[in-house]
Amino acid sequence: MKELGKIRLPSAASDSGDEETIKHVPLGSRKNLCINPRVARLSSTTAINERCLDLQKPNVTQSQKCEFLPSNASITDKQRIETFRDNTIAQIQDIEDIATLGKRMKLCPYYASRAAISATEVLTLPYPLLLQKSARQALGVDVKDNVVIIDEAHNLTAAIADTLSASMPLSHLDLARKQLLGYCQKFKNKLKGKNRVYIAQIIKLLNSCISRLQQANNSRFTDTSLLATELITGTGTDLIQPHKLVQYIQESKLIFKVEGYAELHEQPAQSRLPKSTNQVLKQIQPRGVLAEFQKLLIALMNPTSEGRFFISRGEQEPLLKYTLLDPQAHFEELVSEARAVVLAGGTMSPMSDWSEQLFAYVEPERLETYSFGHVIERDNVVVQPLSQGSSGIEFDFTFSNRKSERMIYELAAVVEKLCSTAPDGIIVFFPSYDYLALVASLWMREAGNASPFMRISALKRIFQESKEVNIDDLLKDYSSTISSGKGALMLAVVGGKLSEGINFSDKLGRVVLCVGLPYPNIQSAEWKAKVEYIEHKRYTKLKQEGLPEGECKTRAQAAGREYADNTTMRAVNQSIGRVIRHKNDYAAIFLVDKRYAMSRIQGKLPAWLKESIRSCAAPWDVVDENCAAFFAGKSRAT
Ligand code: SF4
Repeated sequence: MKELGKIRLPSAASDSGDEETIKHVPLGSRKNLCINPRVARLSSTTAINERCLDLQKPNVTQSQKCEFLPSNASITDKQRIETFRDNTIAQIQDIEDIATLGKRMKLCPYYASRAAISATEVLTLPYPLLLQKSARQALGVDVKDNVVIIDEAHNLTAAIADTLSASMPLSHLDLARKQLLGYCQKFKNKLKGKNRVYIAQIIKLLNSCISRLQQANNSRFTDTSLLATELITGTGTDLIQPHKLVQYIQESKLIFKVEGYAELHEQPAQSRLPKSTNQVLKQIQPRGVLAEFQKLLIALMNPTSEGRFFISRGEQEPLLKYTLLDPQAHFEELVSEARAVVLAGGTMSPMSDWSEQLFAYVEPERLETYSFGHVIERDNVVVQPLSQGSSGIEFDFTFSNRKSERMIYELAAVVEKLCSTAPDGIIVFFPSYDYLALVASLWMREAGNASPFMRISALKRIFQESKEVNIDDLLKDYSSTISSGKGALMLAVVGGKLSEGINFSDKLGRVVLCVGLPYPNIQSAEWKAKVEYIEHKRYTKLKQEGLPEGECKTRAQAAGREYADNTTMRAVNQSIGRVIRHKNDYAAIFLVDKRYAMSRIQGKLPAWLKESIRSCAAPWDVVDENCAAFFAGKSRAT
């Protein structure tokens, strides 16, 4: 926004030489923009979205509706929206400014900002609003002949897959069935024959999914992938046409009606509960289960080659999931309409993935790739692969070896030494939450000062990321500890809450360690399906090019391996990139695993880091000395 604000263009309205800023509108989510305190204070994005939509239902009394929602029927509201639009585009504003404007005008900025879309030259919006055609249509966002710039594009394929993927636990499927049965029972005499048939078909589908998931309750069940045809089984399901069901659900507003009835129906039983219990119930009861099922129904319409259904035992209960494997088909429409598409990001390497996964159909001469160096001086960063620790114990954090206690204690010795050498903040990234928990428990095992945990605590205060922890509070404590001069160690997870979008600049991150390589679980049905898909795609392409069968197979397998390496190293690059944030920043990066010595792996580091790689053959004493010299030099320079 700051950069956009610097641009001055000749006024389009006159040739007087006047200048004006770019007309820009930032679109945000309800979580960013809701100004209704009763709704905005809800804990999750889903809860905020659902509450807002609930308040717009026809059965909600005027006094309960959201007072900030502009009405299409009110002339005064139309004028207020125009004032909001004019204020928005008069100067470059960010999401917070828009929220403040909405508060000042007592007008919902989430809805009011949409009115300004047609008047803008630059529109900024979150991924899901751009990537879903239905969202673009609902907002009136037309990419035709426009330039689309996707920032942080290393997330793009995952974002496309997330937008079109869907999942439902067994209890939600069960609740959806109960709601539909209750609705049918109540209105059986009023429903027309055709409607009854469609609802019966949806119930049959739900039955089929539920019985599939019940198999996963067995403790011997292993996660499994299945085709849409394997999911729809049972008497009469062969007549089901998912696209007709989706069309019926949308045209009849079935979800709205069924959920509205279910809410009213559940009310009397709940109203007998004490008020506080009622409030808790409202928060924890799964809501929008039919909308979740509609997403799965839409997925049933996708070609088999594009995605797969999975059944897993889940952490708490069996889960039915649809994962999109081929993001290209869904991105192609946007690419074909836009004048140009720019994918930009700090960790786009390795780049071959993008042309393979998103632009395989585009002629190579239409794809341009640029890679730029970092703004920092080369000697502001040290990259040290560590194949072994101070006692010579090899660091091999492969899945089969990672529980080795000797190696975990050796890691503790390295961390302890670095805590005494490096100033301020140190971050250690682990490959998973489970592994971090295992390491932390071993480091704490011995009582008193004998445990590594206690020894490290004497040097720096230790913080630990977990799935449950409030990340804002954790970061606040971490940075205030560093500001107080004590120094802090953060134990975090690659792909977790601290590995993206968090800034560990300057004192917050003088050293970062990446422990092991966070390869996905190669045994999971989902990962296997993804790799199979990549291999099959490459195999088909090579076959079409006329290569011999053996070579097609070998190169297809290599593509699968490459995909795994690329996915893993992109996550590593994201994590270690947290510590170098501006021109004068400096940090030491330790890649702790013997596999980081391999040129295949080092080749996937960003170019600006490759220039600073130190030898992995150096013994620990030399590494330690170099590290001390690096920080001593930096401390003298500042
Ligand atoms: S209309 Fe706007 S302010 Fe009201 S609940 Fe919805 S998002 Fe919040």
